[in-house]
Amino acid sequence: MREFSARTRAANMARMAQGRFDVLVIGGGITGTGIALDAAARGLRVALVEKDDFASGTSGRSSRMIHGGLRYLERYDVGLVHEALRERKILRRLAPHLIRPLPVILPADSPREAARYRLGLTAYGLLTAGRNIGSHRPVSGEQVRAAAQGLRGTLRGYRYFECQGDDARLTIEVARAAQGYGALLANHVRARRLLGGARVTGAAVTDEISGERFEIRAAVTVNAAGVWADQVRALAAAGGGQRRLVPSKGVHLVFAPGAVRTTVALFVPSAAGDGHFVFIVPWEDRVYAGTTDTAYGGDLDCPGVGEPDRGYILDTVARDFPGVTGRDVVASWAGLRPLLSGGQGDAATYDLSRKHAIAEDPPGLLTIAGGKLTTYRAMAEDLVDRLARDRPAGRCRTRDIPLGLHGSARAASRLAVERARRLGLAPAAGTRLVRCYGDDWPEAIAMIGADRSLGEPAVDGLPVLRVELELARSREMAITGEDVFVRRTRLTTRDASVPVPAG
Ligand SMILES: Cc1cc2nc3c(=O)[nH]c(=O)nc-3n(C[C@H](O)[C@H](O)[C@H](O)COP(=O)(O)OP(=O)(O)OC[C@H]3O[C@@H](n4cnc5c(N)ncnc54)[C@H](O)[C@@H]3O)c2cc1C
Repeated sequence: MREFSARTRAANMARMAQGRFDVLVIGGGITGTGIALDAAARGLRVALVEKDDFASGTSGRSSRMIHGGLRYLERYDVGLVHEALRERKILRRLAPHLIRPLPVILPADSPREAARYRLGLTAYGLLTAGRNIGSHRPVSGEQVRAAAQGLRGTLRGYRYFECQGDDARLTIEVARAAQGYGALLANHVRARRLLGGARVTGAAVTDEISGERFEIRAAVTVNAAGVWADQVRALAAAGGGQRRLVPSKGVHLVFAPGAVRTTVALFVPSAAGDGHFVFIVPWEDRVYAGTTDTAYGGDLDCPGVGEPDRGYILDTVARDFPGVTGRDVVASWAGLRPLLSGGQGDAATYDLSRKHAIAEDPPGLLTIAGGKLTTYRAMAEDLVDRLARDRPAGRCRTRDIPLGLHGSARAASRLAVERARRLGLAPAAGTRLVRCYGDDWPEAIAMIGADRSLGEPAVDGLPVLRVELELARSREMAITGEDVFVRRTRLTTRDASVPVPAG
């Protein structure tokens, strides 16, 4: 098992302070880690700093869908859908344990709605040709009820497929793969000033754990700071220039086991009647629902779930699943989309583009903004292609770099279930270890074999095992209790009342 720990972090920081890099990446979300992996795999010398934790920004707060974006077809954004479907297929191959097919039902209330969905799904089907997981098909009211037992009435609808994956765990696997190709990564290191005059030549950074300060020198600095990208640009001596991002907030609510009875995801119109849709998605023994999409002007570090956000989602879920109330909500999260303003000021962010853009301003600082979790690999390829124009670098290799698992997830799960059973663990524990740790599941099982207490639940009633708290620190550079509980194991998005240990 590759060590990626506090010790790795300390060694990385020492080397960052001494070396000179081809690329310094600021931001350890999916975009920044994706760029670090792509650049390192092409032979470039890469450093990456993240002010908080990997995936602590938007990349740990998404809807967790690796999807083509059916709704973008309403805006005839065929290019975006096409790219996302291609990337979905690549990611399923690279990380089959993390990214799994998810059946989705679009319930239709009226013949008009049914005709609209049929048209959209037919276009989607044409675009998915060769990349499809299963073709869409009409489903009867009875079939809908069998899949979503708690759903009101006897709605007919259409079924199609998307994929689901844990966004934070995908980000950490990409970060680990980048380190495997020689990139140096450190979380809890903040870029606080950009070096250089007219041209940016790196960054002055602070280790947020020890308070220590040092400088990292690089030929090119990449600003992959998501919704913070305007702030990072403003750290340059040349100043920040025009504001380019309009953050938009999206919240999700998590419902207690059994409260929202469905085994498929549902994509339903919001109860607010604003033309937006809400995803209701099964996740292990729970269901989460989201999202809102509202322009946001508050503190970027702590977007909260307010009463209006909560009401918007709850009203939709309660309309479709009679009997569900606020008491069924066990956790929630809020994230900010880094949408490009497109010069439209405060225009409704729902209609703004989800495409990405790259700009060099000032010289030496490449800012990448926008995009989706699903398309991170293509965004990284685009950016590193641009870097490669000015320096010797190989071709993009990320289409063929596995993200934590070589081979079939099903075959690994069969073996892991058997090995788990021999240790007296439930079959679900074996499956879970493969889904979370890919190729490293045998080491996880061996750790439990050596210390049986590691096979016990980390928190009573939740599926996370104690061995995972150790793996978070030794395998995944978790430094604080929050890193472990919020992002590596997702204990707090299962149940918000789980206390997060300090340190
Ligand atoms: C509610 C919601 C739902 C979504 N659902 C989906 C979905 O289902 N599927 C999909 O494909 N996409 C989805 N998206 C979009 C997707 O999540 C984002 O496009 C993606 O996560 C953005 O990643 P990023 O790396 O660019 O930004 P972030 O993940 O925000 O990463 C930027 C990082 O930069 C760091 N940083 C900032 N300033 C500094 C500094 N000075 N020094 C060092 N580090 C710094 C931050 O701490 C942060 O970790 C969703 C977005 C939202 C908000």
